[in-house]
Amino acid sequence: MRVLIVEDNEAIARDIGAHLEQAGYVVDYAHDGEEADFKGFTEDYDAVILDLGLPKLDGLTVLRNWRAQGRTFPVLVLTARGSWQERVAGIDAGGDDYVVKPFEMEEVLARLRAIIRRSRGLAAPIIRIGPLELDTRAARAILGGKALDLTPLEYRLLSYLAHHQGRAVPRMELMEHIYEGDADRNPNTLDVLVGRLRRKIGSGFIHTRRGHGYMLVNPEAEG
Ligand code: CA
Repeated sequence: MRVLIVEDNEAIARDIGAHLEQAGYVVDYAHDGEEADFKGFTEDYDAVILDLGLPKLDGLTVLRNWRAQGRTFPVLVLTARGSWQERVAGIDAGGDDYVVKPFEMEEVLARLRAIIRRSRGLAAPIIRIGPLELDTRAARAILGGKALDLTPLEYRLLSYLAHHQGRAVPRMELMEHIYEGDADRNPNTLDVLVGRLRRKIGSGFIHTRRGHGYMLVNPEAEG
């Protein structure tokens, strides 16, 4: 899952970013409204955390621009304490939820998980694929009741596929959503990673669709 953090306060941005990375997300940053506007149009994010008070272009304008141009990624708005008007304006501009500053990081993470899963049509924090469970709160996978020992990258791969289960996800899309910005995006590297994950969860879950990509399925539901 790739998340854009839009926050001009460097300390707050780094703090959120560190927690997100620990929770299994890939993180990009924008430090003013113009940079946010540009990245929101050029990159495909799974969610955006958007501060409203930004230099160059304010957050509400950025959000309205995205929505007016059909950008539908879920947006978590950061608002100032006590300003109910700002919270209402954020939601009306196309925000999916908000967190009031100063916030607890656990609340940011919980609301972020919720808007991402709702954007994928998922209601619960645990995603079930037959005997495989993905606990998005703890960033871990459980198979037949036993926790799997996955690397952060393997978890990110599984999580992205689980949020898109039943759809063949193209290789390029997968790489954009699971690798850090400067990582080597080589399809062969991805295939090796998929192979490693298959060995850990069993070969029946991830299907290769030639020319289309990888698809996560429940092997027990296959007829
Ligand atoms: Ca700010």
